[in-house]
Amino acid sequence: MTRCDHCGNETALPYTCQHCGGKFCADCRLPPNHACTGIGSWNRKPRPAVGMNYSRGGGVTATGGGGAEPRRGTVKKAAGEIPYLKITALIIVVILLGLAWLVHSGYRFG
Ligand SMILES: [Zn+2]
Ligand SMILES: [Zn+2]
Repeated sequence: MTRCDHCGNETALPYTCQHCGGKFCADCRLPPNHACTGIGSWNRKPRPAVGMNYSRGGGVTATGGGGAEPRRGTVKKAAGEIPYLKITALIIVVILLGLAWLVHSGYRFG
């Protein structure tokens, strides 16, 4: 058994902090949770999504600084929300275009 360097709890599978080299329990493994001496470097690097393991610096991070992908102005994140208004407007536009096409192609109403 290994003791957590921070809280002293015995832990079977200690986590080694990549920033200060200490060994910590699951509760203390994140740098803010054990007053990490290397928290400066931890704060500087882009934080991965919650639940992902942060790897040793300079690894295979997909968001490695550059940002080669150009942002398309206003990309709204409608998380799980269906934009009914937009869909309705789109349908109306399609119908109007269809009617315009019918009139254009010689269709006579009545
Ligand atoms: Zn601990
Ligand atoms: Zn640490």
